[in-house]
Amino acid sequence: MTRAYNFCAGPATLPVEVLEQARDEMLDWQGRGLSVMEMSHRSEAFVSIAEQAEQDLRELMGIPDDYAVLFMQGGASSQFSAVPLNLAGPNDAVDYVNTGVWSKKAIAEGKRFADLSVVASSEEDGYTHVPDPSTWQLRSNARYVHVTPNETIGGLAYSRFPDIGSVPLVADWSSAILSEPVDVSRFGMIYAGAQKNIGPAGLTLVIVRRELLGNAQASTPAMLDYQVAHKADSMYNTPPTYSWYLAGLVFQWLKRQGGLDAIKAINDRKAQKLYGFIDQSDFYANPIQPEFRSRMNVPFTLADDRLNDEFLKGATARGLLNLNGHRSVGGMRASIYNAMPEAGVDALIEYMAGFEKEKG
Ligand code: PMP
Repeated sequence: MTRAYNFCAGPATLPVEVLEQARDEMLDWQGRGLSVMEMSHRSEAFVSIAEQAEQDLRELMGIPDDYAVLFMQGGASSQFSAVPLNLAGPNDAVDYVNTGVWSKKAIAEGKRFADLSVVASSEEDGYTHVPDPSTWQLRSNARYVHVTPNETIGGLAYSRFPDIGSVPLVADWSSAILSEPVDVSRFGMIYAGAQKNIGPAGLTLVIVRRELLGNAQASTPAMLDYQVAHKADSMYNTPPTYSWYLAGLVFQWLKRQGGLDAIKAINDRKAQKLYGFIDQSDFYANPIQPEFRSRMNVPFTLADDRLNDEFLKGATARGLLNLNGHRSVGGMRASIYNAMPEAGVDALIEYMAGFEKEKG
């Protein structure tokens, strides 16, 4: 069997060990005679899978007891509406920072449900930096401040988070969750679509301080109401059981790697290698100010756009898949999430060097 290196931004590559375990357990999960996909979500077997996944996630991220962990559906995009619906009234102030395409989507949706203000933006410089928190025009009556710690398309990441006092910080961590340790207590809420560092698409993780629950706008659909999900142990309706199970296997894999400190060290090394190579080259370029470069998504351009197709074709032929940039920005992008082995980054750099030598 040959496995390619898949640099897709999401759904993204998963750890081989996880896929192998899922394969081995596919027809008969732990002697029960059925696959996880076929289990009732109310069965003792599935409830044990679900509880173990939550426990492992809490351990990995050090999630304090006063936070609820919700396994929801609808992707991070559903959270763009769920966040204001749950955490603010229709006339309440909510503050957003605009650092890229995903912030902008959250802003467009949030505007429909609250009095939203964009308190800082780096749009005018092409999203190549995160606006300095000292410049954010925060409103003291805001119900929360929304940030996007890792912009998947632009390859832009926060290098630090401001202390904003008692106003909850809400983070769309879809593309960098679990890539490094995080002090959860500094955030009112963290959410993430699963299909990058967590598991298969279909599952959305919500980590929210319990005291923020229970004040959803009256019109909030039950499926988006955190309190409803919390009271039902994330089983108000049928949850995405197989995605939940696979996420649990990924959490166990992460624990075997040594947890988030260990995975951060590997992620740092992978990113340094790739950016280091791009920076020493006259042929490849990355526009992001070094302090704000994402360690998960590395966009880069070729000196001559006309070579893009040939670059991608050659890469695919070598088993280096999905290096094309997002359709909205073009160029290239290598997503190097937790599950991308260091050997994959090495193989990419070797290919890029050879291509440059030939065409540069
Ligand atoms: N936020 C970020 C930062 C993302 O990268 C994405 C998906 N790429 C989304 C939100 C939207 O996620 P979903 O497709 O799960 O709705």
